[in-house]
Amino acid sequence: MTSLHSHQKAKALKPSSRRPAKELCSECGLCDTYYIHYVKEACAFINQQITELEEETHGRSRDLDNPDDWYFGVNQDMMAARKTEPIEGAQWTGIVSSIAIEMLNSGMVEGVVCVQNTKEDRFQPMPVIARTPEEILAAKVNKPTLSPNLSVLEQIEQSGMKRLLVIGVGCQIQALRAVEKKLGLEKLYVLGTPCVDNVNRAGLQKFLETTSRSPETVVHYEFMQDFRVHFKHEDGSVEMVPFFGLKTNQLKDVFAPSCMSCFDYVNSLADLVVGYMGAPFGWQWIVVRNDTGQEMLDLVKDQLETQPVTSKGDRKEAVQQSIPAYDKGVTLPMWAAKLMGVVIERIGPKGLEYARFSIDSHFTRNYIYLKRNHPEKLDAHVPEYAKRIVGQYKLPESTEN
Ligand code: FAD
Ligand code: SF4
Repeated sequence: MTSLHSHQKAKALKPSSRRPAKELCSECGLCDTYYIHYVKEACAFINQQITELEEETHGRSRDLDNPDDWYFGVNQDMMAARKTEPIEGAQWTGIVSSIAIEMLNSGMVEGVVCVQNTKEDRFQPMPVIARTPEEILAAKVNKPTLSPNLSVLEQIEQSGMKRLLVIGVGCQIQALRAVEKKLGLEKLYVLGTPCVDNVNRAGLQKFLETTSRSPETVVHYEFMQDFRVHFKHEDGSVEMVPFFGLKTNQLKDVFAPSCMSCFDYVNSLADLVVGYMGAPFGWQWIVVRNDTGQEMLDLVKDQLETQPVTSKGDRKEAVQQSIPAYDKGVTLPMWAAKLMGVVIERIGPKGLEYARFSIDSHFTRNYIYLKRNHPEKLDAHVPEYAKRIVGQYKLPESTEN
């Protein structure tokens, strides 16, 4: 009999017990396993260590003299891409699901950690280790709720799997990288998506009810580059609500405290990141962080149409103006919001500049939030690249440095 690793003697927390990160917990799933043994080092909200983990994973950390590295993280290539034959029902064109399927079919990995939903509730996440293309496809589309993806980690050691792909968002991937060497794998591949403004299941309900005309028929939604939320309904219709018309006063507390304190929007520690915000509308945005990521992308090359990334406009004024609006919880009347949406769409930031706009707005908001609610965490929790991003703006008096 092989001897137990010390972590295997640790015990997962019960679902109802308070997590070590307290209200900042993003329910990443680590504490649902015996890997809770490492929580003090591994948790993204207790021990932010992006720089160190970047060095271990990519061979270098962000170059702080290069503002593009502040924003997009370590990368060796970036592009806009879309599948020539999109997967129906995927969040965008299904590049994430396609890469996972090819990795499994080619034998590069034996399993894929991804998140399906429960039968009863399309927004209730159910993490799994998929071993067939069908199981990967059943995980397509975003679950716009905190998802305990790492809760399946114990099953890896038990299954004897040696080559694994994990799909996940930044906080999950930070904790995963911190315990990577303890998982007993020969090779771990990480496919990340950007992530922002997530909510717990109750918060999602509140968001849908205050924002959509028909909350019960929403199939999925996305905050888009045209400055509107697009809700897709069961009947295929698309409802658009401008950001500026969001009832921010009612929605102020809707986002999870973890997401209000997060500075890893672009998933710094994944090998390959697939999002949309640096690409033209209808296209996906791909960031290759290292050679492993390139190897993963190469598998689906012949299924993709690509074009170089571009950047247009100047975000700075719009970001600066959005800061007091968040601060006071202002909502514009709907007609004014629509008008502003149109103006911003015409003259506003496009491509990578839109991505910078979104990163700036969220990092300034989150910095204010953290300074107000957890000032003792500010210094160690906010990475240096994020401090530089926030430092470009004037914050409200009460939160000035
Ligand atoms: P699909 O082929 O549909 O696959 C989606 C994959 O995501 C599945 O494999 C599933 O396992 C995984 N997944 C679904 N929900 C979760 C979850 N809650 N936690 C972890 N993994 C999950 N991109 C941007 O550029 N800007 C953003 O602001 C942005 N915000 C996002 C917010 C959230 C909450 C999430 C989950 C994603 C966000 N993304 C964002 C990523 C983007 O929406 C798409 O997920 C990405 O472009 C992949 O699209 P696809 O069609 O290739 O994915
Ligand atoms: Fe545990 Fe993850 Fe919550 Fe941190 S975020 S306390 S690691 S479940």
